[in-house]
Amino acid sequence: MSRIDVLYAFPSTVPSTEISEWLAHFESAGADPTLYWLGATPVIAASGTAGAGPTHLTRPDATVRTTGDSRLGRRELRPGGTVVPIGPTRVGDGSIAVFAGPCAVESAEQYDTIAAIVAENGAVGLRGGAFKPRSSPYSFQGLRWAALDLLAETRRKTGLPVLAEVVEAAHVERMAAVADGLQIGARNMQNFELLKEVGAAGMPVVLKRGFGCRVDEVLAAAEYILAAGNDRIVLCERGIRTFETATRFTLDISAVALMKQRSHLPVMVDPSHSTGNPALVGPASLAGVAAGADALLVDVHTDPERALCDGNQALLPAAFRELMAQLESLAMGLGRPLAGAGRLPVPAAGIAVTA
Ligand code: PEP
Ligand code: MN
Repeated sequence: MSRIDVLYAFPSTVPSTEISEWLAHFESAGADPTLYWLGATPVIAASGTAGAGPTHLTRPDATVRTTGDSRLGRRELRPGGTVVPIGPTRVGDGSIAVFAGPCAVESAEQYDTIAAIVAENGAVGLRGGAFKPRSSPYSFQGLRWAALDLLAETRRKTGLPVLAEVVEAAHVERMAAVADGLQIGARNMQNFELLKEVGAAGMPVVLKRGFGCRVDEVLAAAEYILAAGNDRIVLCERGIRTFETATRFTLDISAVALMKQRSHLPVMVDPSHSTGNPALVGPASLAGVAAGADALLVDVHTDPERALCDGNQALLPAAFRELMAQLESLAMGLGRPLAGAGRLPVPAAGIAVTA
């Protein structure tokens, strides 16, 4: 059985001398304390034997007993939730933020065209894979480093932040120089060296749930990033493998609500990789938002049949437009704003829009 620990979250205004005194108190009580930072909040984890502590010191805002692996991510430590800024887009502020784009960056023209379409239709962020972890070595592996210049150029033209997947620790610094948010793919959710590296980088991270992983395992993976001092994490439900083969994966809707309840981190839903079917992307998106998702990650392509990666799950521009209209109605019903609504459309300079 894992040992019982207690997490003490202090006000961010507490003087560092008092934190030192608290640490000394836990040390002398044999409670083996460790100091972490959750943003500006000092959190001391100690075994539960230290008593009330010296009375002249600032008291903790929250005291949470824990026996499991989920610690710094626990909702009790930040009941109001975490807002993760990805460029100018704020995920977790109560709005519904839609990130969209092709699965992979294929060429300057393909990426510019799709980015302009999703920007004009209300997306507040772009997706675009440079390195693609594919099940088969014979499938398109992405344009790799060559895609980074295209991501940077399209970001400049649309003014939208870009999310790009990072596949190994040694790539983090170079990817972080261009992307606004780093995506950790389902296949890498338990690549712990990668998690530590993106933790140290302090960059916004979209952490996708491994398709064979339980909710407590995703939350434990997020702890690697949190423990490294980075609280800019968006958890992403992208479907799990079940006996059902009628969809690519099974979108675990209850996990969306559960992650929101257990963790203070915002949650994103990927309706494209989960269903693998453009006809189901709309319903899965609406269900995800109704279950409490803060953001969506949607594959869009102008020519799905010729897409080099995952074309069979991408929405055509007209279907994306329709989805955005449906989301607007749902947002109104939920009393939540659609992120970017009311923002002036940005007809991206130098990009010809074809529907
Ligand atoms: C992707 O978003 O392109 C992707 C590879 O997703 P996942 O890691 O969820 O399979
Ligand atoms: Mn894909």
